[in-house]
Amino acid sequence: MQSEKIFQFADERFADLQMLRYQVPGFQDLNLRQQVLAYYLSEAALWGRDILWDQNCRFNLRLRQLLETVYTDFQEERDTHEFKEFCIYLKRVWFSNGIHHHYGSQKFHPGFTSSFLRRAVLSVPASKLPLREGQSAEELCDELFPVIFNPEVCPKRVNQTEGEDLLLTSSCNYYQEGFTQVEAEGFYASLKAEGDPDHPIMYGMNSTLMRDEEGHLYEDIWRSGGKYGVAIDRIISCLEHAIHYAENVQQEEVIKKLIDFYRTGDLKVFDAYTILWVGETRGEVDFTNGFTEVYGDPLGLKASWEGYVNFVDKQATHRAQLLSENAQWFEDHSPVDPRFRKEVCRGVSAKVINAVILGGDLYPSSAIGINLPNSDWVRAEYGSKSVTIGNLTHAYNQAAKGNGFREEFVINEETLDLLNRYGEVCDDLHTDLHECLGHGSGKLLPGVDSDALKAYGSCIEEARADLFGLYYLADRKLVELGLVPDEEAYKAQYYSYLMNGLLTQMVRIEPGHDIEEAHMRNRALIARWTLEHYPQAVQLVEHEEKTYVKILDYTLLHEAFGVLLAEIQRIKSEGDYEAARILVETYGVRIDPSLHRQVLARYKKLNLAPYKGFINPRYEVERDEQGNITAVNLTYGEPYDEQMLRYSRDYKTL
Ligand code: ZN
Repeated sequence: MQSEKIFQFADERFADLQMLRYQVPGFQDLNLRQQVLAYYLSEAALWGRDILWDQNCRFNLRLRQLLETVYTDFQEERDTHEFKEFCIYLKRVWFSNGIHHHYGSQKFHPGFTSSFLRRAVLSVPASKLPLREGQSAEELCDELFPVIFNPEVCPKRVNQTEGEDLLLTSSCNYYQEGFTQVEAEGFYASLKAEGDPDHPIMYGMNSTLMRDEEGHLYEDIWRSGGKYGVAIDRIISCLEHAIHYAENVQQEEVIKKLIDFYRTGDLKVFDAYTILWVGETRGEVDFTNGFTEVYGDPLGLKASWEGYVNFVDKQATHRAQLLSENAQWFEDHSPVDPRFRKEVCRGVSAKVINAVILGGDLYPSSAIGINLPNSDWVRAEYGSKSVTIGNLTHAYNQAAKGNGFREEFVINEETLDLLNRYGEVCDDLHTDLHECLGHGSGKLLPGVDSDALKAYGSCIEEARADLFGLYYLADRKLVELGLVPDEEAYKAQYYSYLMNGLLTQMVRIEPGHDIEEAHMRNRALIARWTLEHYPQAVQLVEHEEKTYVKILDYTLLHEAFGVLLAEIQRIKSEGDYEAARILVETYGVRIDPSLHRQVLARYKKLNLAPYKGFINPRYEVERDEQGNITAVNLTYGEPYDEQMLRYSRDYKTL
């Protein structure tokens, strides 16, 4: 493992953002053919970057060039406050693939003056500036500065305010300027009316809506030879290389069909491609490449470009499978009344993957779980692929170790050490137990309505799954199965679970509010019920005006979770609404206001970045004299700014 090497490079922190490095464990264990496949698909995932920048706002690409030139070439004033603010601004623009916040979509306010930027632009080589034909650097400033400095210009990338014209007030670049919402909606309504109602294509997904000189509306399709054609041709070329290294015939067909789609822009071909893609489950390497999610269009039609490549995390997937295979053993040994146990129990398998590269709208900010495709009828008739990205989750966990959070809330060094040693393994395992076994265990007594617990049903169900996991985490069976390193490991999860349920999950709640969300209610329910019924096992203690969780007896805690699991299962199996209501209302809802204030104040002092993004590893190939790839090398140390500048330089298409 190369973890030590990685942590030499401080993770970067600016504005409300933190950059993380993710590792790709297992990449070197893929065979060379798979590595080369992943390499070409990764290249394909990087070549679409400029498409996304242009989709996000029509000024983005030229602004990026202007800002990057100042960053690399403006040699004066580099130790001034203005230059530092300029750097933060550029880093935020990089992070968001444009001038609007990646999450909130509001335009960034620069912390430097327009006179600073003008001095800078006028002093760098004009040949490196995004000048239009015949344009001077002065004129460039006059043209583009309002986009940066005037808050009225392009204020929001995606406006969703009800009652406003969502197209006229959004500055994403999916519709020619001046289109009204009514016009665009009318255009697509009539297209849909003509199409197949049972198998609708993804209307409008891959085009810019335009108006010709006579005022007729038409779509400028994103395809080879059309809009974004230069970028798409580079992607196609990488995919063509990838075909030769496909792991099986179906995977080859998937890639060929995607190329076909990029060439034609035909959305029927796109549907055919997604159907092939969903069906290809034998290959270890998999990928997404193309116009995918529609969050960036206020009308929810146009898809932003994204790409990523992944391979199965065999170890993590094995863990889930192992639990599933032993589902019956767990069911037969559970502490619930045998009347409520399932006679025949099957676990659910989950697929865990590792990301090889993140591109387009998944870079640098990425989802942790992905479920595709988005076409409803394809999902209904052919299913979907649902994955958890293990190595990104791991990077989050690593970051959580050093950020001061645990140090603030964990009671002592010994416990902190326990959490640092076993926390992650147990957290993953608890999730697997919850998902693969917990939800599937137990049964309702004959005649009991599955909705009997009404509004309390989902909280009770989550509590049941969590308790199933907590109870079995301490079982020797997990050591036997090789899923935990030793019989101490479960203690880490017991501590962090109770700390979360009793204290730290409150940081997500506004002062004065109750707990609403089902998962949060269930954690509070379990933790507070245990606190009240087992004071010999767990207590809240004060030290220097701070409250901590103190665990006195882990074995007793295990017993407590078994008792509560049996009761929760009884409530579920019998449909005992009144008991569910009392449990949830007594333990799961209200928050002690003074404890809440204390926890919020302690959290605020840590000054943690609410948003995280990922720096990609770098892949380089070695070739023999015939040009065949003989090795794919992977390195991690590239700084954030260098990676961004390299992508802008080496994958520039538009
Ligand atoms: Zn659940």
